[in-house]
Amino acid sequence: MAAESERCTATAANPAVRALWSHPVSDVRLVDARRFEALSKAGIARVEDLILHYPFRYLDLSTAGAIREVPLGDDATVVGVVRDVRVKRPRQRLTITEVAIADDTGVVVGVWFNQPYIAQRIKVDDRVAMAGRLEMDFGLKQMKTPFLERLDAEDGPSQLGRILPVHRATEGVSPNWMRRLVLEALSLAGDVPDPLPAALRVRRQLPSLRHSLRAIHFPRALSEVDGARRRLAYGELFTLQLAMALRRHRVVGESPGHSHTVDGERMHGLLAALPFKLTSDQSSALAEVLADMGRPAPMNRMLLGDVGTGKTAVAACALAAVADSGTQAAMMAPTEVLAAQYAGKVGPLLDAIGVRWCLLTGSTSPTARRQHLRELADGSVTVAFGTHALIQDDVTYDHLTLAIVDEQHRFGVQQRLALRRKGEAADLLVMTATPIPRSLALTLYGDLDTSYLRERPGDRGPEHIRTRLVNATHRAAAYDVVRAAVAAGRQAYVVCALIDESDAAEARAATREAERLRTRVFPDLRVGLLTGKMRPAEKSAVMEAFRDGDVDVLVSTTVIEVGVDVPNATVMIVEDAERFGLAQLHQLRGRIGRGEHPGEFLVFADPRTEEGRQRMKAIASTSDGFALAEEDLRLRGEGELLGQRQSGLPRLRLASLVDDAELLEMAREDARTIVESDPHMELAEHALIAIEAHAMLGDDEAWVKSG
Ligand code: ADP
Ligand code: MG
Repeated sequence: MAAESERCTATAANPAVRALWSHPVSDVRLVDARRFEALSKAGIARVEDLILHYPFRYLDLSTAGAIREVPLGDDATVVGVVRDVRVKRPRQRLTITEVAIADDTGVVVGVWFNQPYIAQRIKVDDRVAMAGRLEMDFGLKQMKTPFLERLDAEDGPSQLGRILPVHRATEGVSPNWMRRLVLEALSLAGDVPDPLPAALRVRRQLPSLRHSLRAIHFPRALSEVDGARRRLAYGELFTLQLAMALRRHRVVGESPGHSHTVDGERMHGLLAALPFKLTSDQSSALAEVLADMGRPAPMNRMLLGDVGTGKTAVAACALAAVADSGTQAAMMAPTEVLAAQYAGKVGPLLDAIGVRWCLLTGSTSPTARRQHLRELADGSVTVAFGTHALIQDDVTYDHLTLAIVDEQHRFGVQQRLALRRKGEAADLLVMTATPIPRSLALTLYGDLDTSYLRERPGDRGPEHIRTRLVNATHRAAAYDVVRAAVAAGRQAYVVCALIDESDAAEARAATREAERLRTRVFPDLRVGLLTGKMRPAEKSAVMEAFRDGDVDVLVSTTVIEVGVDVPNATVMIVEDAERFGLAQLHQLRGRIGRGEHPGEFLVFADPRTEEGRQRMKAIASTSDGFALAEEDLRLRGEGELLGQRQSGLPRLRLASLVDDAELLEMAREDARTIVESDPHMELAEHALIAIEAHAMLGDDEAWVKSG
């Protein structure tokens, strides 16, 4: 084994070898039909998948000591022969598995609770390595839940003095076999040239790809692993950032966009029509937006600001600049409620400066729709507010130069660009109220420039909204808070959700809860109901009633999560809050205390997991959206967050957005520098990495080229 892994580094890198990576894994020696099927089932279908199937831990056999000499209380690895295997069942639902192993100097017993399968994996006389903390129990040396690994007979005594990598096994392919197959894959296709430009590797002090692959799979010493891991993680992040930088360049660098008039009469008219002065965050964000709009290169910008930070006013000014330029703009929201709200808030401002607009959603009547389509096509309407309805095939614009997309994470990348494509290289402004950690923002939206709204207009301080965790026994007291608020002329929300279940189930739960509150808890109050299942007209009617103060308590599913603005609502109860993510809870909390009156956020939760408890603690302890987002990332890991947001993104195998933030920044900087100096990836030293970056973009490329 050692000799073969040497071979990976001894020969010269061969460019043709990279092609083997995409061959079926059955090209690897020893992968027969049975193993091929087992591997494929585990997602290891191509040679590449095996090469990138990194070990998840290592046993350092070089430090494996004689059993007699391992100090008590130390983490250690011992190597010996299995003398005894037993499974005991002292009582129901408890199994204890004990494996005694011995070397020439002594015996140590491994003990596992409720893992009876351990006993099936090994038998007496097997040679094994066992790693764990050595303890003394009733005069016997033992390790509790140690890591146990069978050493193959043919590995022989040469195993000693080496590091044993442990690759995740799969049904039908044991850890030992997996190790052997990875070694075969490496000797078949490990001698690849490094796609990272040499200058970059030198500057960042990164070992070569060939070396790193060998070192991470079969390190000669544990000290080799870190450098290899860093190189491979950097490679993942860099390729992704390069893909983003190239995508950005396609949009921003090449296609000639529209140079807007950004200092015109209507823009100033709109500023004057606003009932307030912009905050300094709003002013600088607007300046950034207008600077982009004034340039011929298309804008590709994201406006990040917590709920209530005043993104709408910034967007409204951008719309006015479009009017000054004599072109058209479209503003797309994820729900009809929101689209209608934008029309309701921004529409009158546009009226005040003599700009024509329309609202186009799924529930627009056929007659009105026909008229809107005609007026958008002939250019007599300047601004269109709406939902997905704005990007349907039969909607055409005379000259669309600005696309604003709100709450972007609800739309896919495709939809975001579908709107832009309705114009020719239209400027794009994406707005999001979900404060995402920077590392995640760079990964998901690395192709966008960013503007932040951090302060809230008329910031009333963190004391303005109080958050309290409520357990089941204090329900009555929480309802008293609602009652008191209503008595003082305020309003309340009760939010119900069954995440992971269907909309229909969620709607049923809210409907039941509304019924219960109406009949048993607040028979004297006006209780309303809003669910995602209701018809749009019904929804708007309920929202309007709530806005007009004709409903005291609004029971709702998560439809209200986004953007609803009723300043008189001061109390919110969230049922089953442990089912919500931090970002979602934070968004919900943003709905209350938007006016002068202080708010109460009452979190009904019964967290069963430690993670859930920590989430509840976090929401109660801070109102800083960015801090919560970082905490969410830390608690849940990026896998879940990325998965939820966008499925199209390539998987990061090694790199972690939590732990590798520094590498990520480095990768981003390097990627942008390279694209600036060689935007078409024409230099020979960029050829390989360009191919990888394009492969990473995958199908998304299609719209980049045409958009
Ligand atoms: P967002 O869209 O970011 O959630 P909005 O644009 O809806 O925030 O603004 C939240 C509230 O703050 C609205 O009622 C809006 O009228 C008000 N507002 C926005 N900007 C200012 C400002 N500069 N000064 C005072 N109030 C503002
Ligand atoms: Mg908003």
